[in-house]
Amino acid sequence: MKKIILATSLLFFSLPVFSWGFFAHKKINYYAVFLLPPEMLVLYKPNIDFISEHSVDPDKRRYVLQEEGPRHYIDIDHYGTHPFPELPRKWEDAIDKFSQDSIRSYGMVPWWIEIMQHRLTKAFIEKDQSKILKLSAELGHYIADAHVPLHASMNHNGQLTNQQGIHGFWESRIPELLADKEWDFFIGRAQYISNVQEFIWERVLESAAQADTVLKIEKELSRSFASDNKYAFEERNGIITKQYSSTYSISYNDKLNNMIERRMRQSIYAVSSFWYTAWVNAGQPDLKYLTNKNFSEEELQEFEKLNQSWRNGAMKGRNED
Ligand SMILES: [Zn+2]
Repeated sequence: MKKIILATSLLFFSLPVFSWGFFAHKKINYYAVFLLPPEMLVLYKPNIDFISEHSVDPDKRRYVLQEEGPRHYIDIDHYGTHPFPELPRKWEDAIDKFSQDSIRSYGMVPWWIEIMQHRLTKAFIEKDQSKILKLSAELGHYIADAHVPLHASMNHNGQLTNQQGIHGFWESRIPELLADKEWDFFIGRAQYISNVQEFIWERVLESAAQADTVLKIEKELSRSFASDNKYAFEERNGIITKQYSSTYSISYNDKLNNMIERRMRQSIYAVSSFWYTAWVNAGQPDLKYLTNKNFSEEELQEFEKLNQSWRNGAMKGRNED
């Protein structure tokens, strides 16, 4: 029995944790489609499955590419205290001040979003359907990551405060438990963002400000729960895994005052608004008439490679564990 418990707890703590979890990323991209105007829905609606499924490609790429990891987070508290005036928001100024190596090692999600937004705008200008879909799906991932408080903290998995596992708890376990049953994702319409850089930094600063709450509340709650109530063993796909119990998860969500639902809703709004902004900035091309409608052999192979590496491989660079 002891052996089983040891094996399962290892499984629990060594499972790679993903930004927002695959479940939430797929939902965010899926619901973001419904905020778009009709001129964009003609493309996004028939391709909603692709947009949703491929929202997780950037996480799969972390198994292929060393440089991928830092695009998903920023350890912003490395740069001082909120609102981190020491850290320049412009990429060139930031690398001038701290060197590119250092900036990369502490994470670069806000800057990477700007790069992706630029690429998506270009794809709209080129009227390249394959590129538009691929970049929309992936941009959605990084924007959603920027909304996760623990993606803006050095203590990203509670490893500094003995709260290992909190990363996946917040962004996977709770959405999987509650999103379909209780949360509401119908959110008005996408809006034009006049300053993309400013917008995303505001979201990152909000995430950073909330990271302390995410950690503090779990710490307090943990003290009031006996360990056998805090965790439960559940069977998933034939494997028994150690999980935060439903009772513990629901209590945590209540104490956070629905922060996770709110952050997910804000992610959906932001993702849709970035897509819309890229399209407007490209001159609102007619999406009924696009070129390159089929993915090339090379692109299809890349999708396959991502899947294979993710299934078989070890994550390159930092894991949130
Ligand atoms: Zn991610």
